[in-house]
Amino acid sequence: MREDVNRMMGTSHLVFGAGAWMALGASANYTPGLAETAAVLIGALAPDLDHPNSRMGRIIPPLSRFIHRNGGGHRGMTHSFLIMIPMLWLSLWLWGKHQSQMQSGSGWWGWLFGGSQSESGLTPDGFLGVVMLAFVFGYLTHLVGDLLTRQGVKFLWPLPFVIRLTPFRADSSIVTGIAWMTLWTGLGLQVWIHTESTIGIPFPFG
Ligand SMILES: [Zn+2]
Repeated sequence: MREDVNRMMGTSHLVFGAGAWMALGASANYTPGLAETAAVLIGALAPDLDHPNSRMGRIIPPLSRFIHRNGGGHRGMTHSFLIMIPMLWLSLWLWGKHQSQMQSGSGWWGWLFGGSQSESGLTPDGFLGVVMLAFVFGYLTHLVGDLLTRQGVKFLWPLPFVIRLTPFRADSSIVTGIAWMTLWTGLGLQVWIHTESTIGIPFPFG
């Protein structure tokens, strides 16, 4: 039973994260690539590394038990918004490097390959920066998702304050429904931006 609930919550985090990423992309008239999507999905599961029975926890059990013991238990350290600050800083730093490399055509990539860029027009630093940002975004959707449950999140862990935005259980049909609706919305918006000329309804955003 416990395992089923954990698996179900993992699925909700995946569909919520993917849907939110696609919706965000659509708002900028952009379709996310494969690497970013994978990073969002991993980010959407990553905070539950602190729970040995979660999908993430079962991939690396010793690490999961270690975090569970030393990081304030489930929904402790890995569920703190504060942990996102260094991740965000790292991704923005990489992105900044990418931009300066684009201007100067140098950096280690330029030095190695004579200034040629990767296929997508991103330098490896830029690519890493975008993938890292996608991971942070997925991570954020996980924390927001947990805020929508009655268990709430100690969002400034190690400070003990818990916030919870709804009285619903994580496995309730309302919380699961919100997650799936987000996915269908994100997919729908993506279909819209790709077919707006065919269906004749211009996409109002982006
Ligand atoms: Zn969680």
